Amino acid sequence: MTLDRRSFIGKGAAIAAASLGAPMVMAAGGKPRVVIVGGGAGGATAARYIAKGSKGEIDVTLVEPTRKYYTCFFSNLYLGGFRELSSIGHTYGKLAADYGINVVHDWAVGIDRDAKTVTLAGGDVLPYDRLVLSPGIDFVDGAVPGWDISAQNAMPHAYKAGSQSELLKAQINAMPQGGTYVMVAPPNPFRCPPGPYERVSMVAHALKASNPTAKIIIADPKPKFSKMALFQEGWGNHYDGMIDWIGQDFGGDNVKVDPGAMTVDIDGEVVKADVCNVIPAMKAGRICELAGVNDGNWAPVSGHTMQSRIDENIYVLGDACSQGDMPKSGFSANSQAKVAAMAIRGALTDSKVFPAKFSNTCWSLLGTDDGVKVGATYQATDEKIAKVDGFISKTGEGGDLRKATYEESIGWYAGIISDMFG
Ligand SMILES: Cc1cc2nc3c(=O)[nH]c(=O)nc-3n(C[C@H](O)[C@H](O)[C@H](O)COP(=O)(O)OP(=O)(O)OC[C@H]3O[C@@H](n4cnc5c(N)ncnc54)[C@H](O)[C@@H]3O)c2cc1C
Repeated sequence: MTLDRRSFIGKGAAIAAASLGAPMVMAAGGKPRVVIVGGGAGGATAARYIAKGSKGEIDVTLVEPTRKYYTCFFSNLYLGGFRELSSIGHTYGKLAADYGINVVHDWAVGIDRDAKTVTLAGGDVLPYDRLVLSPGIDFVDGAVPGWDISAQNAMPHAYKAGSQSELLKAQINAMPQGGTYVMVAPPNPFRCPPGPYERVSMVAHALKASNPTAKIIIADPKPKFSKMALFQEGWGNHYDGMIDWIGQDFGGDNVKVDPGAMTVDIDGEVVKADVCNVIPAMKAGRICELAGVNDGNWAPVSGHTMQSRIDENIYVLGDACSQGDMPKSGFSANSQAKVAAMAIRGALTDSKVFPAKFSNTCWSLLGTDDGVKVGATYQATDEKIAKVDGFISKTGEGGDLRKATYEESIGWYAGIISDMFG
């Protein structure tokens, strides 16, 4: 990791102490300015909590290119036929109207850390006193030989929701009877550890109704995956014989694809795919690289405040940061956003700051009314966000409990959406 004199700051508590004790920074117009890049689970929550908590004392600008944000969470349920696409699309009107947030629909394309400005694709330059980056993920170039972003129409990732989700669903619907769906799963760490496996469950659910002789193959570079026993039990119960998981021990880490021929080479065996869902290795959204706050693929942060370890005026949330023990999830991003919002309000308006606490739960749907979950609570140490305690659904649970778990996830979805968008 390269640190220069300008950007170097110490670790953990030292960062927290320096920042929380820092003098109030006032903008020319009197109000301190916070710019937030990315209006997803982390960024929208941070914007709302900073604006709401500071009661107009902080000028908040949210930069997000899309006018409608489609949640990746529940996008698998859309593939399974449990949700309409329209039900996972959300707009920013209330953040502007009810919370006074300046919502700018544009891309951030440059960050000058000395001048403390963000440059937008449209040419505007936004000054900031504190900057929040929550841009989600991008894909690592060359991670799956034969695939790059220009192949995303032939072989969709559907790991950013919206048109990619629609495309993947259309391809699944168009599969010939008895056809083959191949998923190339990503290596750790990646957005939503149970996501690929919930997706396979939902694709199998849809195919079981429309195309019961279809096959699903997962080529996976990992030797194991999140909630593995629960998924494998669920696949046996609901989709027996339909899903073939090829893990690292069986060559799942030696894969190349040919989007033109629609073939996947798994450790020398070439499979003809009717649908090929390539989910490549991931890294922090590119703006983190441009800001120079990454160490390798991700942005290191202090768990006390979510401040970048490279620049104390920048906070990095959600999938883009190195989150210690937390998984990269919408729940985590939302939880981190509240810690950052509290720290930023404390730094800019002297409001009270409490010790950082985090939580996460990831629900997955295996089949109709068959929900499972894994979750934990976390606290900040000087080294990382550290797990305190956790829980996970058990194999062999009864149908009532599984239904209740699924219903809990529906309640969570409604809750996080109102927490993000008001
Ligand atoms: C299939 C799937 C299922 C999932 N299921 C769940 C689940 O059940 N529960 C759960 O908790 N999580 C789930 N997740 C994970 C969850 O979606 C992510 O972890 C979460 O969205 C991360 O929040 P974020 O703020 O880091 O990024 P995002 O929510 O992706 O938001 C990033 C935003 O930044 C914007 N952006 C990027 N670059 C720029 C730029 N340069 N300028 C301006 N804006 C920019 C993007 O347009 C985007 O809107 C799932 C993910 C997938 C793929």
